[in-house]
Amino acid sequence: MARVYNFSAGPAVLPEEVLKEAAEEMMDYRGCGMSVMEMSHRSKTYQTIIDEAEADLRELIGIPDNYKVLFLQGGASQQFAMIPMNLMKNKVADYIVTGQWAKKAWQEASKYGKANKIASSEDKTFSYIPDCSDLPVSEDADYVYICENNTIYGTKFKTLPNTKGKTLVADVSSCFLSEPVDITKYGVMYGGVQKNIGPAGVVIVIIREDLITEDVLPGTPTMLQYKTHVDAGSLYNTPPAYGIYICGKVFKWLKKMGGLTAIKELNEKKAAILYDFLDESKLFKGTVRKEDRSLMNVPFITGSEELDAKFVKEAKAAGLESLKGHRSVGGMRASIYNAMPVAGVEKLVEFMKKFEAENA
Ligand code: PLP
Repeated sequence: MARVYNFSAGPAVLPEEVLKEAAEEMMDYRGCGMSVMEMSHRSKTYQTIIDEAEADLRELIGIPDNYKVLFLQGGASQQFAMIPMNLMKNKVADYIVTGQWAKKAWQEASKYGKANKIASSEDKTFSYIPDCSDLPVSEDADYVYICENNTIYGTKFKTLPNTKGKTLVADVSSCFLSEPVDITKYGVMYGGVQKNIGPAGVVIVIIREDLITEDVLPGTPTMLQYKTHVDAGSLYNTPPAYGIYICGKVFKWLKKMGGLTAIKELNEKKAAILYDFLDESKLFKGTVRKEDRSLMNVPFITGSEELDAKFVKEAKAAGLESLKGHRSVGGMRASIYNAMPVAGVEKLVEFMKKFEAENA
């Protein structure tokens, strides 16, 4: 078996230990004689799986009782609509647009009410996070929205915006569980799991209790109301059952790794290996303002499209997969999520040094 180092932005690398355990349990989950994929979501066994997943996630983040945890489907993109449909009571919301995903969320919200773009970094291809200490937050805004880690551009909010008392809603898809967070600063934190946590399709929503009401926009489908899923413990209909089971395994892996403080240290170590090299390289250059650099997604360029393409091709041949940058920015991007081992980043930097020596 030859595993590659997979730098994909998502779906992305998962801990080998988790994949092996899932493979062992594939035909017969703990004496049930069937796979979790084949199991009724109404069975006692499955209830234990989803309950344990929630309990472990609550322990990892430190989620207080006044927040609900939902395992939903539709990916992160479904939340772009679900958030305004459920939270836009005044039909006003403020968006900080720091990349394509925040822009899509803002555009979607515009269908349901007045979605104000109160800050943006589009003027410099989203290569930085704007100053969010004193923004023109709307007096009647139902919430302020951010995409906390911008997967495509490799920027991350190092401090949360000053929302002037308004509810903060954050898409954390590409930084979920990569470091400790104070959940009480958020009204809603959500993310697609296909980067740091599990298989695509599952989206986890952590939402403060007072935001879960029946007072949603007229016409909001039952399936798109948070209350529906809260009342049913994420089992209103058939959930993405197998995906949630894998998420649960990743939560246990994270606990074994020492939790979010320990994983942050490891993520900082990995990112430093790559950024330190980028800062000294004569060929490769990071594209993001230093203070806004993401620990998870690291875009870089050579300045020549031809060399970029050569690099991606030769890296692939060397077992370094999916380093091509997003189609909207070009160049390269190394996504180094929780499950990427230090050895993977070291091998990448070693390869970059060799490529530089051969092509400079
Ligand atoms: N938000 C962010 C930050 C993302 O990186 C992505 C996907 O890469 C999405 C949203 C969209 O996720 P999904 O494909 O699950 O809808």
